[in-house]
Amino acid sequence: MTSEAEARAPHPNPPPQGGEGVGERKRILTGVRPTGALHLGHYVGALENWIRLQREYECFFLIADFQVSDHADDISRVKGNAFEVALDWLAVGLDPQGSHFEIESLVPQHAELTTWLSWWVPLGMLQRNPTLKAEMAGLEGDSVPVAFFNYPMMQAANILMPKAHLVPVGEDQLPHIELTREIARRFNRTFNVDLFPIPEPLVGRVPRLVGVDGNAKMSKSLNNAIYLGDDAATVTQKVRGMYTDPTRLRATDPGHVEGNPVFMYHDAFNPNVEEVDDLKARYVEGKVGDVEVKTKLAAALNAFLDPIREKRAYFASHPNEVREALAAGTAHASKVADATMREVRDAMGLNYLG
Ligand code: ATP
Ligand code: MG
Repeated sequence: MTSEAEARAPHPNPPPQGGEGVGERKRILTGVRPTGALHLGHYVGALENWIRLQREYECFFLIADFQVSDHADDISRVKGNAFEVALDWLAVGLDPQGSHFEIESLVPQHAELTTWLSWWVPLGMLQRNPTLKAEMAGLEGDSVPVAFFNYPMMQAANILMPKAHLVPVGEDQLPHIELTREIARRFNRTFNVDLFPIPEPLVGRVPRLVGVDGNAKMSKSLNNAIYLGDDAATVTQKVRGMYTDPTRLRATDPGHVEGNPVFMYHDAFNPNVEEVDDLKARYVEGKVGDVEVKTKLAAALNAFLDPIREKRAYFASHPNEVREALAAGTAHASKVADATMREVRDAMGLNYLG
């Protein structure tokens, strides 16, 4: 697109009118790993809450590039993935004017705070973390990098850095928030300070959206995702290949709605409740085929994704706006991190130079 056309194109996320100023609000910190673009699971598990709360809270949205050590072979893709994540954030309507889009490794205080806090985390606390255990089981035994084992610690440092009160995430992150709460309590108690608020988790409308494989959580890393940026034909093709009710061989067999991924997606994304109820009723009676259920699901998903795709296309053709959002958010996060680290050092009696 030419710069003239860029200038004329309407901005899809107009700046907020009025409202509370940054700095007066309680804070949110939450984030995403730059392992790929965002998918439907992110939307219903996390993003929806971020969008809803972005005016009420001062939000730090973090791209956690220190935390992708299980993708070390793919390090050349991390930068591009980070850009895709920021593009998706803008596409769903997160507003970088009122919030801070932050690249973790450009605020090295995150690594510093992780090191200090890890003094007060017994190894067993990490070893018992169920999400970490499940994720490590998917990696090859001996080859789990130390950094991967340590990533929930780092997440705790991320959350505590801006003294966040609330952490909107999907269900898989709850053990990490519990760890963060414990670390905050230990630090405050050890140094007899009230430095860190004890953050609360907030899980989305669908705590753990299953992937199109019907098996595992929809994940960027598991090749079972419908991406927010997928075009209509790709969405339709992925829906066609989805698992349904394995006990149902013919369209005339009574089917199961409960636990059926296609109906979970209908419940999550099809606003036409009457249509969904009718499909469910006919499905359990063996009076509708998978093809109709899937065709209607693909139509609902494409209607949901259309406006997101449109905004995504705008920002993809205005990459400077994406970079500016990342630069401004990271610069602000650096200042906040500086202030917190001064307080951390004060609390520990390690402000050597006064
Ligand atoms: P990866 O497979 O690389 O870990 P991911 O798809 O799990 O990627 P993350 O960056 O780890 O994505 O997660 C970002 C946020 O989205 C977290 O709050 C996480 O809980 C939430 N989330 C991710 N996948 C889902 C899902 N399928 N359902 C609900 N929430 C999800
Ligand atoms: Mg994940």
